[in-house]
Amino acid sequence: MSHLGDSTGFGKASEGDGVDRTIARPQRAAAGLLAALEAEVVACRACPRLVAWREEVARTKRAAYAGEGYWGRPVPGFGDPGARVLVVGLAPAAHGANRTGRMFTGDRSGEWLYRALWRAGFANQPEAISADDGLRLTGAWVTSPVKCAPPANKPTGEEFAACRGFLEAELAALSGVRVVVALGGLACGAVARHWNLRPRPRFAHGLEVALPGGRTLLGCYHVSQQNTFTGRLTEDMLDAVFDRARQLAG
Ligand code: SF4
Repeated sequence: MSHLGDSTGFGKASEGDGVDRTIARPQRAAAGLLAALEAEVVACRACPRLVAWREEVARTKRAAYAGEGYWGRPVPGFGDPGARVLVVGLAPAAHGANRTGRMFTGDRSGEWLYRALWRAGFANQPEAISADDGLRLTGAWVTSPVKCAPPANKPTGEEFAACRGFLEAELAALSGVRVVVALGGLACGAVARHWNLRPRPRFAHGLEVALPGGRTLLGCYHVSQQNTFTGRLTEDMLDAVFDRARQLAG
């Protein structure tokens, strides 16, 4: 697995390569890097347990989606290559992103997240129903440290480690990021590991920790139904996190 560490071909965008030339040069370079990374991510089969699970879920399906095709592959990050705010979740949901092929799309967690991003001005619409629903992000990128849906939403340490290179390549490409919003303790841990923070920050909602290069890590409860149904995470709390992210991102 290369995780694109050699930068092969990046920045050599030519007509017909799918890169949008209406955007500024650094963003174009980031878009090229991220598009190449996406191709590598979606083809990955490095974790046997996750490959088996994501494909089994796609084959057996939830009854409500029995008539639909499932993506059933790794789910790459999504958003604006010029993002100043990065949102890091945990992994695709079995019947959400693993079904639709786009992070936090097609489930209740995504409804909460994208509605909040829309209220904060990072998204052009509050709905995230399918990969072709017209949703666009401006100034934000949404990703996860594990790109395949894990059984019981619990990736193993080995699976985190196997996927780490993808997040690292993504962060390297997203050079404009000033604020990282970590949704939950595992996301927070992955971010802390990436920047080798010592001591490791203890996750809390509202956590604010300086990262190298003048960036900031913000902690936020995950938008899982476990948190949103119980009132542990409210829309006001989520809005406060993204208001702060926007303020810090400048
Ligand atoms: S979790 Fe990451 S490393 Fe493992 S199979 Fe999926 S994309 Fe590949």
